Amino acid sequence: MAEKITKTDAELEISALRKQLDDWAKAYYVKDAPVVEDSVYDVSYNRLEELEQLFPELVTPDSITQKVGGATSGDLPKVAHAIPMLSMGDVFSKEELTDFDARIQKEIGHPVEYNIELKIDGLSLSLEYQNGKLFRASTRGNGTIGEDVTKNVLTIADVPQTLPEPLTIEVRGECYMPKSAFLELNQKRDQDGLSTFANPRNAAAGSIRQLDANVTKARKLSTFIYTFVNAPEEVTSQHQAIQKMKEWGFATNPTSIKGTSLEEIFDFIDKYEHDRDDLPYGIDGVVIKVDDLSLQEQLGNTAKDPRWEIAFKFEPEVAETVVRDIEWTVGRTGVVTPTAVMDPVQLAGTTVARATLHNSDLLLQKDVRLFDTVKLHKAGDIIPEVSEVVLAKRPADSVPYEIPTACPSCGQTLVHLEDEVALRCINPSCPAQIQEGLTHFASRNAMNINGLGPKIVQQLFAKELINDVADLYKLTYDELAQLDGFKEKSINNLLEAIEQSKSNSVERLLFGLGIRNVGAKAALLLVKKYENLDKLMEATVQDMTAIDTIGDTIASSLRFYFDQENAQTLVSEFKNSGVNLTYLGPNDNDISENFFKDKVVVLTGKLEHYKRNELTQKLQELGAKVTGTVSKKTDYVIYGADAGSKYTKAQTLGVALLTEAEALKELE
Ligand code: NAD
Repeated sequence: MAEKITKTDAELEISALRKQLDDWAKAYYVKDAPVVEDSVYDVSYNRLEELEQLFPELVTPDSITQKVGGATSGDLPKVAHAIPMLSMGDVFSKEELTDFDARIQKEIGHPVEYNIELKIDGLSLSLEYQNGKLFRASTRGNGTIGEDVTKNVLTIADVPQTLPEPLTIEVRGECYMPKSAFLELNQKRDQDGLSTFANPRNAAAGSIRQLDANVTKARKLSTFIYTFVNAPEEVTSQHQAIQKMKEWGFATNPTSIKGTSLEEIFDFIDKYEHDRDDLPYGIDGVVIKVDDLSLQEQLGNTAKDPRWEIAFKFEPEVAETVVRDIEWTVGRTGVVTPTAVMDPVQLAGTTVARATLHNSDLLLQKDVRLFDTVKLHKAGDIIPEVSEVVLAKRPADSVPYEIPTACPSCGQTLVHLEDEVALRCINPSCPAQIQEGLTHFASRNAMNINGLGPKIVQQLFAKELINDVADLYKLTYDELAQLDGFKEKSINNLLEAIEQSKSNSVERLLFGLGIRNVGAKAALLLVKKYENLDKLMEATVQDMTAIDTIGDTIASSLRFYFDQENAQTLVSEFKNSGVNLTYLGPNDNDISENFFKDKVVVLTGKLEHYKRNELTQKLQELGAKVTGTVSKKTDYVIYGADAGSKYTKAQTLGVALLTEAEALKELE
């Protein structure tokens, strides 16, 4: 018990805790790569606070309890915050929240109104405007000195660069990575053999603190702004502050409400603790703020936290289960990924029986073994992940897990490239890689060959009917008849779909080839410029990088790919089979004036008349840019049934909304 501890023992424990917490905080704030779960950090932090309360004479100004966690990295320019950017006190139970309310009422002398907001899982950002123009953006850093991230913030679509009035103001809020962007980023990093981000918060922090603004831009960050540093005179409450910021074009979170009673606060907490998975962004709790700004001033701040607000942190959702197997799968680029196969368990609303272990380095670091009991959580509320092994439950005869040295598909020795955390199979003829590649080639956004999913690809391969993508175009009726369950109709349908894909515009084929770093967008830009594959295959890296947004990485990847003899053979086989290798889409200058030309459009909800990719293609042919997120730059949101957050966001930002029928009228 803490109460029984001697001062000498407390001193020793405090010093060990401070060292441990400082190390963890450095990994979290400076490297954006935490080494322990937040809940583990919080336990040690609370213990340190407890000991410091028992022995106040042992509190030192450099203790982590006395300063805003975080620091600046050496790489970015520094910014001094005239008004410090503080942290926030937190509570983990409704009892503690009741105590907070009692303390506020006691200090103020009567019940007060609160503004209740979601606690967005991102990092705080300060935005400074001079005469209505964004001139500086900075991170919190250690609270008094932050990092200048202006160039990067200028790439975030929902941050207004100009205000409607020539105001000189500073606002602060949270920069976050939407869940969809986080998933996409981690998937790509997994595929590229890079380490993944532990959660959207670290992904956002890692993305905003980049030296190259293009990297930030590609990471699709968003913001919710929630505070004025010096509120305009007419604004007297937090609730009004948010309204005002919204009026001036800032992205504000639409969920916040006013409430006086603890019941209202508890209802809000319960609602979002339950619904958090449905939100398109991560939250880790609820923030309760005294609404009246003059009362906020009266309550003041400690060195670290405002006294007028508190964060209620959600319980991390954790489950325990037993690992029965570790499966290794080979991706399209040869990255070999481990997955824990476990006894099924309920976790945050779903039954989970498999969880990614990401890569061999992480597996070894966590020392996961067969038959270990492990704790699971959902990274960013989405992907089930093994957080740690419950060592106390490890079987006595447990042995360390042996990482495979051979590819589970082709048996070739796996390599661990120096700058990567992943194991890779570098055999270009590895069946698993080729099958994954074939599935990708046939997928909707590539050659769109209806009916050619992973199972059929697997069979075609197993029966040695195909070896590479070019072989698809040589398949005959009799060969397809060998596939399980394939009768006249399915054979003809597949042959027809393959035949049709021959006349696709060539960007689909280029994307379908699965060349490293060449996504669908890059493929389109490239074939628009070079018109056909022959010309593109001749292009130099320098010539390709003249295209806006095509950088060295993409261009070098393409050059490397087309310099290989088997890539050239593949292309000539396509030619022989009559596959189109020319760009057939419109050129930007040829598009005649129309309702959607040069407009930024977002699609949401269930569409009735078109499949989503068909409508996207149609709009692109008319010169529209179709994007996935609603921002102030969006011109139209086309919505179908059950439209959710994008619809609401469009309403919030005042973006024009079109029903599918209205859009179709304009299309015609
Ligand atoms: P915090 O993130 O818990 O809370 C303060 C921050 O909340 C503010 O600075 C602001 O950026 C943000 N916020 C989000 N929504 C808000 C809203 N609506 N209104 C106001 N603010 C809002 O505090 P912190 O000091 O940044 O970090 C401490 C936490 O970080 C710890 O509780 C711990 O869980 C985690 N941490 C983890 C590790 C680790 O190793 N895992 C290390 C250090 C810190």
